[in-house]
Amino acid sequence: MTSRKKIAILGSTGSIGTQTLDIIAEYPGLFEVGLLVAGSNVDLLIQQAIKFTPRHVIIADDRYYSKLSEALSPRGIKVASGARAIADAMYLEEIDTVVTATVGYSGLEPTINAIKAGKRIALANKETLVVAGELITSLLKTSSSDIIPVDSEHSAIYQCLAGEASDSVKKLIITASGGPFRTKSMDELRHVTVKDALNHPNWSMGAKITIDSATMLNKAFEIIEARWLFGIKPENIEAVVHPQSIIHSMVEFIDGAVKAQLGLPDMHLPIRYALGDTTRLATTAPALTLADYSTLTFEAPDTGRFPCINLAYHALSRGGNTACIINAANEIAVAAFLHERIGFLEIKDIIESSLARIPFIASPTYDDYVNTNAATREYAESLINNKI
Ligand code: NDP
Ligand code: MG
Repeated sequence: MTSRKKIAILGSTGSIGTQTLDIIAEYPGLFEVGLLVAGSNVDLLIQQAIKFTPRHVIIADDRYYSKLSEALSPRGIKVASGARAIADAMYLEEIDTVVTATVGYSGLEPTINAIKAGKRIALANKETLVVAGELITSLLKTSSSDIIPVDSEHSAIYQCLAGEASDSVKKLIITASGGPFRTKSMDELRHVTVKDALNHPNWSMGAKITIDSATMLNKAFEIIEARWLFGIKPENIEAVVHPQSIIHSMVEFIDGAVKAQLGLPDMHLPIRYALGDTTRLATTAPALTLADYSTLTFEAPDTGRFPCINLAYHALSRGGNTACIINAANEIAVAAFLHERIGFLEIKDIIESSLARIPFIASPTYDDYVNTNAATREYAESLINNKI
C-alpha cells in the first residue's frame, strides 16, 4: 500500500483552502493533512484542525495564538503563529505537497521556502508568480520541487499541454469571464459599488480575487502567471472573453489545432487534478452537460473599459520589479475599495501613480522585492490618505 500524501494548506479557511479540504475528505485513502495555516479566522481553523487532525497548525495573526493553543495543544497538535513560523514550516518533513491558497504577497516567502525544501507545490497564490516569477523560475531549476497550477486557466493549459512537445506550441489562449461589469459603460463603471463588484456571475471566490476579476487585473496576472509557468513569450499569450466560463483555456499548436479543456466553473476540479499530481481521480461531483449550454460565446477584451489587462504586457516587457509594484499597489487599492475609501476606477489610477513613482530595478534580488513591496504599499496608502 502506498502511503497517503501529506498536504499543507496555506490559507485553509479561504475559498480555495476550504475546497481543498473537500477534496482531501473525498479521498481519505489518498491524502491526509500535515499542516493548516490561516490568517485570523481562528474559529474555523480550530474546527478544521479538530476534523482533519494535522500535526501542525499555524495562524498568521499572533493575537489568536493563545486561543488556538488552548483548543489544539491538548489534542497533541503543535501550534504556532506569525509569518516567520509559516515560512519555516515549509521545511517540515511531515509535508509532501503545499497548497498555496493564501492571498497576495504573503504567499511569496513560504513558496520560496517550499521550493528550496523540494516540496511539490499546488499553486493557487498567483501573486507569487506575478511578484517574482523570474526568481521562482530560477529557483525551480535547482530544486526537486515542482509546481502544478490550481488556477483554472493554468490547470486547463497544463492539461492541454500534456503529451505535447514544447516546440509545437504556438499560442496560449486564456479565457476570461469578463467579470460582473463586462457590459457596463465607462460612466456606469464610475459609480459601481462594492456589492456590485463582489457579485461575480460565474465563480464564488475570495473578495480580493473577485475585485481583481471585476477590474480584469486578474487576467493580467494570469497572463504573467502563464508566462512563468509555461515559459511562453508574452506575445504568444492572449486573453479572450468567454462569459459562460465553460472552456477554461486553450492551446493553439503550430499545425493549427486548438485544444481546450472544458468543465463546470468549479474549482474542485483543478484542485483535484493538482492534488492527484496529474493522475485523474474519479469523482461523483456534478459533471458538465453540454446540452445545458446552447451557446458558448467569445469576444475580444475591451481594453478601453478594462485597461488593467494591458498591464500584463507592460509588466513583462519592462520586467524587473514592475509587476511587484503593480501587485502591491493593487493590494492596497483593492483593500481601500472594499472599505469604500476609493471608487472602482481609482484602483487603476493608484497602480499607475505607483508605477510612475517607485524606482525601477532591472534585476531585483529577493530583498529588492521585499523593499519594493513595502515602499509601494506605503506610497499607495499615502495616495489614498491624502485623497480622503
Ligand atoms: P480567500 O480570501 O478566500 O482566502 C485567503 C486565505 O488566506 C484565508 O484562509 C486567509 O485566512 C488566509 N490568509 C490571509 N492572509 C494571510 C497571511 N498573511 N498569512 C497566512 N494566511 C493568510 O482567498 P481565495 O481562496 O479566493 O484565494 C486564495 C489564492 O488563490 C489567491 O491568490 C487567489 O488569487 C487564488 N485563486 C483563487 C481562486 C478562487 O476560486 N477562489 C481561483 C484561482 C486562484 P483568514 O480566513 O483567517 O483570513
Ligand atoms: Mg483563474
